[in-house]
Amino acid sequence: MKALITGGAGFIGSHLADRLLADGHQVVVLDDLSTGRYENIEHLLGRPDFEFVLGSILNADLLDDCVARCDTVFHLAAAVGVQLIVEKPLESLATNIRGSELVFEKAHKYDTRILVASTSEIYGKNTSDRLGEDDDRILGSPLKSRWSYSEAKAIDEILAYTYWRQKGLRSVIVRLFNTVGPRQTGHYGMVIPRFVNQALRDEPLTVYGDGTQQRCFCYVGDIVDALTRLVDTEEAYGQVFNLGGSEEVSIMTLAERVIARTGSQSSIRVIPYDEAYEAGFEDMERRVPNTDRAAAAVSFKQTLDLDGIIDSVVEDQRR
Ligand code: UDP
Repeated sequence: MKALITGGAGFIGSHLADRLLADGHQVVVLDDLSTGRYENIEHLLGRPDFEFVLGSILNADLLDDCVARCDTVFHLAAAVGVQLIVEKPLESLATNIRGSELVFEKAHKYDTRILVASTSEIYGKNTSDRLGEDDDRILGSPLKSRWSYSEAKAIDEILAYTYWRQKGLRSVIVRLFNTVGPRQTGHYGMVIPRFVNQALRDEPLTVYGDGTQQRCFCYVGDIVDALTRLVDTEEAYGQVFNLGGSEEVSIMTLAERVIARTGSQSSIRVIPYDEAYEAGFEDMERRVPNTDRAAAAVSFKQTLDLDGIIDSVVEDQRR
């Protein structure tokens, strides 16, 4: 395939680029480097099968040119990370709503296949065991920044699905749960790279809330493997798939695990949510995916457990 990856200089996008190139495909990356990083794709520059285009998905002409030259689009460009959404809500909404709408328009214009990255934030405060793709969303007020992200991504999903239903656009939606691995930075709030960074400096690990909130983490390599296969699967079009890890861990236990695996002298500092994010911030207590649908469609499975994931981040940050 000749694939356009919007947001391809980001953490997940750059791993996807590596993977597609290794599989013999051609890759065009469109990224404005707002949260993506040049270092993530620097090793690919100069390859005849790779092209980097610096720019935003909000630039309609540039986007048009990129989509026109590809047969497959992986739409990963987005304002991501709870911290960024809370700090820059307007910019985030523009990218996540207007930007995505433009990407769908162009994909439809050139009849390209498209995979859209959505998020587990879709489920909001639904703490059910093993959230299924058809489960209800439980959200707080849209006036709270966190939920505006969930709303924006829901609009992306509705657009992707409706383009498929009404116009036959071959679109597939994935809801990514906490994804981790090398190249992820802690700048936008992501907990594992932050904890590892703090541990390697022997600084206190910052646990927000009381640390009883739970998450499941998945290795980025397992995620991109599923992305490449889903976009190639006819039956996946018009469908949504959860992708994420199955091992549930509390954030306090995670902090202890990171300290143990790095042999760090760090202590743990508990910080109230109001201080960490903004007044009235609401967290999710628990978020566990049911990934049976992806397992059935493309044999999605995890190859690294939590310790393996932590080690991959430690090794990356040490380097
Ligand atoms: N978190 C934390 N300390 C940090 C960063 C995050 O305790 O330095 C918590 C955060 O409040 C959340 C969990 O770790 O409960 C996962 O946060 P992340 O931003 O990685 O992903 P989320 O699941 O919130 O999208």
